[in-house]
Amino acid sequence: MTLSIIIPAYNEEEVIEQFHARLASVMAQLGMRWEAIYVNDGSRDRTLPILTALHERDPRAAVLNLSRNFGKEIAMTAGLDHARGDAVIVIDADLQDPPELIPALVAGWQEGFDVVYAQRRERQGESWLKRATAHAFYRVMQRIGGSVRLPQDTGDFRLMSRRACDALLQLRERHRFMKGLFAWIGFPTKPVLYDRDPRAAGTSKWNYWKLWNLSLEGITSFTVVPLKVATYLGLLVAVFATLYGGLIVVRTLIFGNPVPGYPSLMAVVLFLGGVQLMTLGIIGEYLGRIFNETKGRPLYLVERHLQSGLQVSGKAA
Ligand code: UDP
Ligand code: MG
Repeated sequence: MTLSIIIPAYNEEEVIEQFHARLASVMAQLGMRWEAIYVNDGSRDRTLPILTALHERDPRAAVLNLSRNFGKEIAMTAGLDHARGDAVIVIDADLQDPPELIPALVAGWQEGFDVVYAQRRERQGESWLKRATAHAFYRVMQRIGGSVRLPQDTGDFRLMSRRACDALLQLRERHRFMKGLFAWIGFPTKPVLYDRDPRAAGTSKWNYWKLWNLSLEGITSFTVVPLKVATYLGLLVAVFATLYGGLIVVRTLIFGNPVPGYPSLMAVVLFLGGVQLMTLGIIGEYLGRIFNETKGRPLYLVERHLQSGLQVSGKAA
């Protein structure tokens, strides 16, 4: 049994060495054959030379150098594409996902689960607003996601069996909302609880605007329910307008027609204009996605690939 560990790395010069040492010591206890695939996602610092040196020192370290920065989701996909192990693990380079959890993930796999994901026990050092918005997001996704369920408090840190990995790799869309993709493939799945370490240094580059955009990304690449909102909103307004029209006719017949109502007219016009622009925007979100998908470009380009020395049975190296 062989294990491929995928590590997307973007400007991680400070932690790579430390990460690899910790990974190697965990893997030594596990006693499996393994490779670590470092995907250098267009780092601007010394990450690449450090990785190259690492590869020369330790043949278990493979380096996949992408031609520029493509973002974590795509870097991860590139690593999965090049993984040759019987199971793959995706883990962050910044040591926020503890490598010490890997044996627990592997144990789950050996019990027969195809996907074993790490689930945070509690969110430390996060404001109540962040927790509340995250909670609301998951609630919304549960309601509109149909039969696909997104597990809560789960990142990308997980183990996938070969068949689960191959299934995931069949989903080649450009807008890669990984939580949605991971959930979509299904297969027997098991959570492993852990405490996520607070960031060792620096700040997360996530802010509320980015999180909002990620939520939009998640919703629009996950479901077409927002497109239906326009239909029902239109229906609601039409029904209301009909009733109100009837009321006006009756009132005019009884009380005559004093022609009031410039403010109410204005309010209705602006309201409907706003609703129409919003629904156009929703349609635009989907249209933009369709546009990006139809270009059919490759997800990423590889500048250089230094392979690990992992020997895999059956599969050509
Ligand atoms: N990462 C990447 N490409 C990017 C941004 C991040 O490959 O464009 C990697 C990064 O090196 C790290 C992981 O993705 O291994 C998680 O990134 P980060 O720690 O910045 O995200 P957070 O932990 O705040 O979610
Ligand atoms: Mg991090």
